[in-house]
Amino acid sequence: MRKQQLISSLSHILSSPIEYLKGVGPQRAELLKKELQIFTFGDLLEHYPLRHIDRTRVTPIAALTPQTEFAQVAGVLLDVETVGQRQGKRLVARLKDSSGILELTWFQGLNWVQKSIETGKSYLVYGRISFYNGQPQIIHPELEALESPQNLTKNFLEPVYSTTEKLKARGLGARQISKLTFQLLSMIRETDVIENIPASLLKQLKLPPRFRSFQQIHFPQSPQEYELAVKRFKFEEFFIAQLRMQLIRSQRHRYSQGVVFDKVGDLFNNFYANHLPFALTNAQKRVIREIRNDTARGKQMNRLLQGDVGSGKTIVAVLVMLLAADNGYQSCLMAPTEILVQQHYATIQSLLEKMDIPVRLLTGSTRTAERKKILKALEEGEIKILIGTHAVIEEVVQFKNLGIVIIDEQHRFGVAQRARLWKKATIPPHVLVMTATPIPRTLAMTAYGDLDYSVIDELPPGRKPITTLHRYESDRSRVMDFLKAEIEKGRQVYIIFPLIEESDKLDYENLMQGYENIKGYFPEPRYWISMVHGRQPADQKEMNMKRFVEGDTQIMVSTTVIEVGVNVPNASVMVIESTEKFGLSQLHQLRGRVGRGAEQSYCILLSGSRLGKDAFERIRIMTSTGNGFEIAEKDLELRGPGEIDGTRQSGALNFKLASIVQDRPILEVAKNTASTLLEKDPDLLSAENLQLKNFLQQQKSGVLWSKIS
Ligand code: ADP
Ligand code: MG
Repeated sequence: MRKQQLISSLSHILSSPIEYLKGVGPQRAELLKKELQIFTFGDLLEHYPLRHIDRTRVTPIAALTPQTEFAQVAGVLLDVETVGQRQGKRLVARLKDSSGILELTWFQGLNWVQKSIETGKSYLVYGRISFYNGQPQIIHPELEALESPQNLTKNFLEPVYSTTEKLKARGLGARQISKLTFQLLSMIRETDVIENIPASLLKQLKLPPRFRSFQQIHFPQSPQEYELAVKRFKFEEFFIAQLRMQLIRSQRHRYSQGVVFDKVGDLFNNFYANHLPFALTNAQKRVIREIRNDTARGKQMNRLLQGDVGSGKTIVAVLVMLLAADNGYQSCLMAPTEILVQQHYATIQSLLEKMDIPVRLLTGSTRTAERKKILKALEEGEIKILIGTHAVIEEVVQFKNLGIVIIDEQHRFGVAQRARLWKKATIPPHVLVMTATPIPRTLAMTAYGDLDYSVIDELPPGRKPITTLHRYESDRSRVMDFLKAEIEKGRQVYIIFPLIEESDKLDYENLMQGYENIKGYFPEPRYWISMVHGRQPADQKEMNMKRFVEGDTQIMVSTTVIEVGVNVPNASVMVIESTEKFGLSQLHQLRGRVGRGAEQSYCILLSGSRLGKDAFERIRIMTSTGNGFEIAEKDLELRGPGEIDGTRQSGALNFKLASIVQDRPILEVAKNTASTLLEKDPDLLSAENLQLKNFLQQQKSGVLWSKIS
């Protein structure tokens, strides 16, 4: 009685604690929370069935074979008897249909079973088929009287729910969860369920209403109804996630204050007209336009720029920094490693050599005196462009008027880190995150949907596609001969070893052994080898790197520390050792280190002779395409979204039913639907969207509702 009152006194029945559902109680509720994260009535409703048993499919007994796993049989109960003694005591019944006889056996609850069944009556029986002495039998079958009128109206598709051993032991097996859900569904009415998709959209998309979908996803009247309900919820999951992210984005556009870059001035124009070393690709031009559109409007830009390795993101960064300077603002370009920062500094300095604009470098190894000077000059606004490592800039640096922060090669750069940068100026600077890790479109839409998004989908002209070959360990000496021939032609080569963990002793020994082995093929003084790995002190690493960059050494033996961003156009061969140990995206990144010059380049994937299915597939993909986006899509398919490197732990991918890989078409529709809706009604004020707005407000979220309502 008390429970009933409690339930009805809550305005939303679906938010009632699960313990108040009849048949649950406090102890089982604790288990439901722990084991299945079911806290409320609503959570139970969203605990969707794994599959359904088709009650309409009945197998003739004669058709059962030892290969049959589960089956449903209809027949008349011939007899029931108790056999055996004590421990071996059991109940055995025989069920007959027109084709044969099936044995039913119970070891537990004998009294209860005996009372509930009756010989001579018809039953529908379901369970796992086993064979005993050549006879088919079911142990502990599910059993229903056939002629009871209830069966006629009962759903034919019965839900099967995931559960756990602990829950089963507490009487919460799949069947009991089914019963609880059935009971819950009969308690709630249409008005208890907030419809979060506006009626006109449901009609347009031919999707069933939310309440009906709950009914049909659990207890479908037909497979078609079930499919529709599933589709509706998949759409809903994507749609709500898209709305949330697009709201965050549009609110940033509308309410945030941003630095205004509305002038294209002397620096930009002079550089563009006189010092640009090549014509920009159309994709580069488009991206610069997109950035200019954003930054000219006085709203803060938060943009993700994606471009495959070698697509030319650096020049975009340079142009944008000149644009900032033209408008009187400072900019800073950050990269994750010292080597990359050095390289950027060298590149950018030589690009801007003839221009009158102060560029400085700040890293962990900048000397104290120099550092002091730089910090002061930044605070006074003398330095217009700062290039440095993340750590350094995040901590100590103060700017006079920072206009834009460009973050290279780290799309993992999180929200919190970005927020810290905002504090470096009264008006938050624009943020441009550049990455060469291709992100599949579906991931970009879901995990990064709150960012603006640009793509350079075109390589500079004249690049020769890299020839990618797979070779086995047994071909090693021929591979080495090939390297010699390339080096004879004046080229340089990379040889990469896997080092998954910098601290992994085995990998490290493997690398050292590999190095000695390679030295055997390439003796000094004819050949010189650089080696770079994570255990070296920074200055040694840099020295070795520098020698290779300057052409002093012909061979670079390295771990994946070399992976991102490094640019040595004269290097024409990339050899990857133990290829089977690398992921697809990583292989693609490594391959991107070559193919930067005018010569034909090669990527040689060395592997052991025994390859697993996935490793084989990765190698097959690598040798069949050079397109980073295609590779990223495959990587996503092979590994699933949770595993993809750099995916933000944003919760944006935690869908119950929907999969960004398999349900991509639904995702596309959801995205477009959300943006159309927000275009028409950005604050969700119309009567039709009010329910949706309520729904979003009820769920915790990062949306700034205070600014909307
Ligand atoms: P990434 O996008 O991988 O950072 P980079 O900016 O390092 O690529 O550019 C790779 C190489 O391509 C550099 O040597 C750069 O000078 C060159 N490059 C960039 N854009 C063009 C272009 N439009 N035409 C010709 N070469 C270009
Ligand atoms: Mg780069």
